[in-house]
Amino acid sequence: MFDYRARCVVVSTKDIVTTLQQRHKLDPITTIALGRAINCAAMLASTLKSEVDYISCTWRGKGLLETVFAECNGAGECRGYTTPESVAEDLEIAELIPEKVSDVLGSEGTLTVIHGRRDGVSKPYTAILEFMNGEIASDIAHYLAESEQIPSAVAAGVKLSPTGEVLSSGGVLVQKIAGTNLDEKTLKELEVNMAEKLNISDRLAKGESVVDILNFLTNDTEEHTLLLARDLSFKCTCSRDRMSSALVLLGEDQIKTILDEFGKIETRCPFCAHTELFSLEELTRQ
Ligand SMILES: [Zn+2]
Repeated sequence: MFDYRARCVVVSTKDIVTTLQQRHKLDPITTIALGRAINCAAMLASTLKSEVDYISCTWRGKGLLETVFAECNGAGECRGYTTPESVAEDLEIAELIPEKVSDVLGSEGTLTVIHGRRDGVSKPYTAILEFMNGEIASDIAHYLAESEQIPSAVAAGVKLSPTGEVLSSGGVLVQKIAGTNLDEKTLKELEVNMAEKLNISDRLAKGESVVDILNFLTNDTEEHTLLLARDLSFKCTCSRDRMSSALVLLGEDQIKTILDEFGKIETRCPFCAHTELFSLEELTRQ
């Protein structure tokens, strides 16, 4: 079927999504939305070579869930967040784990994909598209087809226990290798097969390996060559020094106002929810 004309990426991100869920105190549906987004960012970042290269994806919808942000660099380090972090208080109990992310994100909105390099020199490449349907993976397939001109089939899923614990999170990306004659029909058939039978999160939750999933995608019949295996991890680029510099920029008066109002000077990284406390002396002596 593929005859070495397709490139396939499979990611498993249970630990990362569990960490994000705990750090940001996500509810079930925001966990699923962010997990799918992390899977997609990690798959897009699989071609990056260095930790200074990164891909970020931001969904801005028109539903209760306003933003889903996921980023991954060439070293497999991922971070992400949603705003708000929970929409559970606005949902009926029966809707708490909806089938569709678009029920809360909306089926209309924009997806921004940034392909950048943290070297202080290169300008990032930015693509902005309308949602395909707000289901995360299909929006990424749409981005790849429209902006990168790479016909692709994309799936991403997160499986939760009835109490909301992350049982699995993963994604699959299959795309035509440039210059080959893989026809759209073969990819379309694969897309249907993936939609009907793959269920990536169920397979990972049952303990299937990346190789098992590759075998399913190729009907157990085809040879494949492993090009790259990379560990994925949660990591943010924030640091106490950067947080301190950002506070210093506010100026002494503003910092004193914060201290008077809140009784402490604390910053929280929006990307990873890490908090740091600072003293007035520390910030004003520079
Ligand atoms: Zn951070």
